[in-house]
Amino acid sequence: MASAGGGSRGSVRPERHVQTGRGGNGASSSVRTKSAPPKRPSSSSSAKSSIDSDNAADAIRVRVAVRLRPKNKEDFTDDGDFTSCVELQTETKKLRLKKNNWSSEMYKFDEVFTEGSSQRRVYEAVAKPVVESVLEGYNGTVMAYGQTGTGKTYTMGHLGKSDPSERGIMVRALEDILASVSTSTDSVAISYLQLYLESLQDLLAPDKTNISIVEDAKSGEVYLPGAAVVELRDLNHFNELLHYGEANRYASNTKLNTESSRSHAILVVHVQRSVKVKDENDGTSTDDISNSNNVPIILKSKLLIVDLAGSERIDKSGSVEGHLLEEAKFINLSLTSLGKCINALAENSPYIPTRDSKLTRILRDSFGGTARTSLIITIGPSVRYYSETSSTIMFGQRAMKIVNTVKLKEEVDYESLYKKLECQVDSLTSELERVQKIRQEEKTKMERKLRKSEESLAELKRTFTMKCENLEKKNDCMKMEMKKLTEELNDEREQNKLLSDKVVEMEMSLSQNKQQQLENSKYKKALSDSSQMYEDRIKELLGKVEEEQARCAYLELELRGARQEVASNDNSSKMQDYSNAKELQNELLHKLKEESRSEIQQLEAKNKQLLSEKDLVYEELKSMQEKVMQETRHRRSLEDEILKLKKVVSKNGAEQLERGTSMLRTTSGFSSGGVYLPRTGKSRDSGQNDTRSKTFEGVGLSTIIALLKSEDLDVQCHAVKVIANCAAEDINQAKIIEEGGLDALFSLLETSENIIIHRATAGAIANLAMNGPNQALIINKGGARLLANVATTIDDPQTLRMVAGAIANLCGNEKLHVKLKEDGGIKALVGMVRSGNADVIAQIARGIANFAKSESRAISQGHRKGRSLLIDDGALKWMVTSYTSFSASTRKHIELAFCHLSQNEENTRDIITTGGIKELVRISQESERDDIRILAKKALNSNPAFLREIQ
Ligand code: ADP
Ligand code: MG
Repeated sequence: MASAGGGSRGSVRPERHVQTGRGGNGASSSVRTKSAPPKRPSSSSSAKSSIDSDNAADAIRVRVAVRLRPKNKEDFTDDGDFTSCVELQTETKKLRLKKNNWSSEMYKFDEVFTEGSSQRRVYEAVAKPVVESVLEGYNGTVMAYGQTGTGKTYTMGHLGKSDPSERGIMVRALEDILASVSTSTDSVAISYLQLYLESLQDLLAPDKTNISIVEDAKSGEVYLPGAAVVELRDLNHFNELLHYGEANRYASNTKLNTESSRSHAILVVHVQRSVKVKDENDGTSTDDISNSNNVPIILKSKLLIVDLAGSERIDKSGSVEGHLLEEAKFINLSLTSLGKCINALAENSPYIPTRDSKLTRILRDSFGGTARTSLIITIGPSVRYYSETSSTIMFGQRAMKIVNTVKLKEEVDYESLYKKLECQVDSLTSELERVQKIRQEEKTKMERKLRKSEESLAELKRTFTMKCENLEKKNDCMKMEMKKLTEELNDEREQNKLLSDKVVEMEMSLSQNKQQQLENSKYKKALSDSSQMYEDRIKELLGKVEEEQARCAYLELELRGARQEVASNDNSSKMQDYSNAKELQNELLHKLKEESRSEIQQLEAKNKQLLSEKDLVYEELKSMQEKVMQETRHRRSLEDEILKLKKVVSKNGAEQLERGTSMLRTTSGFSSGGVYLPRTGKSRDSGQNDTRSKTFEGVGLSTIIALLKSEDLDVQCHAVKVIANCAAEDINQAKIIEEGGLDALFSLLETSENIIIHRATAGAIANLAMNGPNQALIINKGGARLLANVATTIDDPQTLRMVAGAIANLCGNEKLHVKLKEDGGIKALVGMVRSGNADVIAQIARGIANFAKSESRAISQGHRKGRSLLIDDGALKWMVTSYTSFSASTRKHIELAFCHLSQNEENTRDIITTGGIKELVRISQESERDDIRILAKKALNSNPAFLREIQ
C-alpha cells in the first residue's frame, strides 16, 4: 500500500460535476453533468471491496494516518516508570497497541508517523495529495482527530513562526495553493470558524456567531453563507488572518471560560480557478468562446482543514458541572455524532445520521461525499491513556472503510462568459450594422439592377413577342409554301404520270411515225417513179413535137421548092397544073397543118395536163417532204421531250425511274446489260437500224445466221448479238424465222457454254417471243423446255433476266399456257426468284401478271376451266409471301395477278389457304393504283367465300 493518499493520485478518474451559482448561497444547478449528483455509496456496494480497490474509477477511500506524539514531561511526571502502549511498524504501516505485557492488537493504517516524523513529511503524506486534488477542482478535507494534547493543533495549525520547520498543514497547504494559482485568473479565499457548543463562530469576524449551515441536497455541497470569506493576497496575508483567527479563538475561549481543545476549528479554503475548456467535439483545448461548443469553466473547490476538539471523554478533562456540563454534552454530541456517522458509513448503513450535529453537517461532503479526505489521528504513547488511544485507533480504523465519490466541482463561468458574450454581442452588433449597411447598399443596387432587368426583360418580351409573331408569320408562309410545294409535287407527280403516259403514247406515235415514214418513203419512191415516167413522157412528146416541127419545116422547104418549080414552068397549063397542084398542096398543107395543129393542141393539152399533174405530184411531193420534215422535227422534239422526261423522271425518284424504265423496257425489249442497244434513243436507234440494214444488205441474214454456227467464238458472239438486235424489230423477225434463225438460236442456247452467248441468245428469243406467231413457234419447237432448263442451270442475273423476259412474253399467250406449264416454264419462272435480282423479279412478276391476265380472259371467254395453272407451280405462294418486299412496279404486276386470279372461283380455296386473301384485302385498300384497288374490291365482293373469310 502506498503512502496515505499518494497511492491513489493517478488512479482517480472523477466525474465532472458542474455547478452554477456564484457563491455559497446553495442555489446551484447542474449545467453539465456526466453523472448523477453525488450519492452515498449504496448499502449493497461494499465499503470493504472499495478499500481494497484503490483503482475504482470514481471511488476513493478516506485515507487515515496515525501520528504518535513524542513523550513529553507530563508523561514522565504522571507516570514515573513510563511504559508505551504503542508500537509502530513504519515499514508495514502497522501499529501495535499493547494493553499490557501479554495483550496487544495490530492495526494497519495508510501511514504511520512516529514521534520523530517531521511536520513536512506528515504534510506531504497526508495533506498534499488532498491539496493537489483541490487545486484540480475537487473538494478536499484534512482532519485531525485525537485526544487532547496528542498534537492535533500542532499538526494542523502550527504557524511555525519561531521554527519554520514546524509549520503545520494549514500553512503548508496555503503555501502550495497560493504558489499554484494564477493571480490574474484564479482566486483563493478563506473562512475560519470555530464550532463550540453547536454554535458556529466566525474567527475572522468575531461578531458573527451562530453561522448557519446550508446544504445543497442535489450536489451535496455545504455552504456557510454567513461566514466571512476573505480573499487571500499572499501567504503573509494568510498568516495574518490565521493569527487573527487564533487570537479571536483564544479571546472567545477566554470569554466562554473554556479551552481551545474543547472547540472544533474549521478552516475553509475556497479555491476558484479558470480553466481552458476542452472542446468535446475536436478534443482541443481553447479559450475561444465564439465557438458555441466552448463555455468558460471555473473550478470551484473547497479545502476543509479541521482541527477537532479532543476526543477524550469529558470527565477526564476536568469538572462536569454547570457550563462545562453543557459543554461536555455538546462536544459529545458533535463527536458522538461524527463517530455514529463514521460507523454508519463504515458499515454501509442505509441511514447516516448526518443531520444530528453541526459538525457532521459541515463534514457531510468529507465523509461519504464527494471530497477527497485524509484523516490524521493523533495518539499519545502513554499507557495511561490506553482506552482513549484505543478508541482513537478504532475511529481511524472505521474511517478507513469510508469510500467517497469524488466529483469535479466545475461551473460555467457566467461572468466571464457574460463579458465575453457582451464583447461578442458588441462586435456582432457592429458587424451586423456594417453588414446591414452593406446589405442596404446592395439592396439599393440590386433594386436598381432589378429595375433595369425588368426594363430589359420587358424590352426582351416585346422583341420576343415581335419575333414570335414574325416567326408565326414565317411559319404560316412556310406552311403555305409547303402546301404549295406539296401541291406542286402532287402536280408534278400527276404530270409525271401524264408524262409517263405521254412517253408511252409518244413511243407509240413514234412507231406509227416510223411506219408512216416507211410508207412515205414508198410513196416518195412511187412519186418519183411516176414523176420520172411523166418527165420521160413529156420528153418523148417534146421529141415528137420537135419531130413534127422538123417535118413541118421540111414540108415548108418542100413547098417552097415546089413553088420555085412552079414559077420556073411558065405556062398556063403549067399554071393550071400549078394552080391544081397549088390547090392540092394548099389542101394538103391545110390538112397537114390542121392535123399538126390538132396534134400539137392535143400534145399541148396533154403536156399541160402532164405539167399540171407534175405540179400536183410536186405539190404532193413537197407536202410529203414537208410532212416528212415535220415528222422528223416532231420526232426530234419527241426525243428531246423524252430526254427531258427522263431527267424529270430520274429527279422524281427511284420509283418513277423504275416505272419509267420498266415501261421503256417493257416496250423496248431488253435494253440494258451491255448486249443490246437501247431503243429509247431514237436517233441511235435509227442509226442502229441503218447499221442493221447495212449488215443485212452487206452480209445477208442467212450469212449471219450461218455465222451462228461458226467455230470462232468471237464471230459467234458478234453474230448472235446482231441477230438479237435485229430480232427487236418486227420486220426482221419473220426473216430470222424464215432463215432458220430460231433453230440456230435454240441449238446455240442448248450447246454453248459462253455466258455472253447465253445472254444474247436468250435476249434474241425474248425479242422473238414478243410476237404472237413466234410464241407458238417457240413453244412448239420446245423453246419453253429449253428456257426452263437454262433458268434452272444458270445463275447469271442478266441471262436470267432475258430468260424470265422470254417466258414472261410467252405467258401472255393463253393458248400456249398448258404446253408452257407442261414444259416447266412456269416452275422455271417462279424458280428464278432465287437470284434475288430486282430486274429478274420484275420480269417474273410481269410474266405471272401476263399469265393470270390472259388465263382470266380465256376463262371468261369460256376457253378454259379449272383452277389456275399458276397455283401448282408455286406462283401464288410466292406472290403471297413476297409481294410486299418488292418495288412498286413489281408490286403492281403482282397486285394485278392477284386480282385476275381472284376472279376465277376455282382459285378461291387456294387464295384463302395460302393467305392470299389477306393480300387481296390489302391490295383493295392500299394499292397505289385506283383501278387495281377497284379490281381487288370487285373480286372480293363478288366472291361470297372471300366475304365470309374476311368476316
Ligand atoms: P492538542 O491540540 O491535541 O490538544 P497540542 O497540539 O496542543 O495538542 O499539543 C500539546 C503539546 O504537545 C504542545 O505543547 C505541543 O507542542 C506538543 N506536541 C504535540 N505533538 C508534538 C510533536 N509531534 N512534536 C513535538 N511536540 C509536540
Ligand atoms: Mg488543540
